[in-house]
Amino acid sequence: RTVYLNGEYLPETEAKVSIFDRAFLMADGVYEVTSVLGGKLIDFAGHARRLERSLAELDIKKPAAFGDLLEIHRKLVDLNDISEGLIYLQVTRGAPGDRDFAFPDPETTEPTLVLFTQNKPGLSDNPVAKKGIKVISIDDIRWGRRDIKTVQLLYPSMGKMMARKAGADDAWMVEDGFVTEGTSNNAYIVKDGKIITRNLGTDILHGITRAAVLACAREAQMAVEERPFSIDEAREADEAFLTSASAFVMPVVEIDGASVGTGTPGPVAGRLREIYLAESLKAAL
Ligand code: PLP
Repeated sequence: RTVYLNGEYLPETEAKVSIFDRAFLMADGVYEVTSVLGGKLIDFAGHARRLERSLAELDIKKPAAFGDLLEIHRKLVDLNDISEGLIYLQVTRGAPGDRDFAFPDPETTEPTLVLFTQNKPGLSDNPVAKKGIKVISIDDIRWGRRDIKTVQLLYPSMGKMMARKAGADDAWMVEDGFVTEGTSNNAYIVKDGKIITRNLGTDILHGITRAAVLACAREAQMAVEERPFSIDEAREADEAFLTSASAFVMPVVEIDGASVGTGTPGPVAGRLREIYLAESLKAAL
């Protein structure tokens, strides 16, 4: 696999980052994951815009302009011959000479920019989407700025492992009685034809797929309500689903061991998955 590191395209075994890099020592970095379908980038502009916002919120220097980032993404897709898959991008505050809690001087410490591809044939025609997935609920004990897409992913990783141990696929996190989001996705329920998903704030990531899917729903005259919902309400819902750049729209058929609706993927999730895949492919770069 050919990867990108600070201006160079390299074999993955030759791409090396300093042990003083602040992402390694302090999780001082942000990331994006963009999917590739038909060799093209899905929702690239949204991911680039959110990256810019994450960097600004943390006062990390922007490592490259929009056009350069687009070109790097495209070149990696080309070099690695990706038809369906993912591109991971990470920007860290860089590697100052020594460990220090205070941010280094941006004049003397350049941010680190890393990109690599993950080949995922069958990403769009995922058989899991036809069966749906099971989630468990866990406490949301993450920090309070979940709107910034940082590489602090230890608790979400633990959540995935808790789910796996419970025989489920993912975990939805709950704070003050309401679902915030999944370990790596935004959470939705459907009741009487209405799509309900938590409103944006600092307590969830502003999913790029969420924005695109809600736009598709509104375009198709489907009712959308942005507000928090509880696990009890989700268990009583007609359908549940999640969205992310890698899962697109994924039906959720079981929550904490109880079936949602009929216990099979629902029509709203199915329709939204279809519309989103078609629309995002049309707009792909
Ligand atoms: N919420 C969290 C915590 C995530 O990590 C992710 C994606 O990784 C999402 C939501 C979905 O965001 P997007 O649709 O931009 O992939």
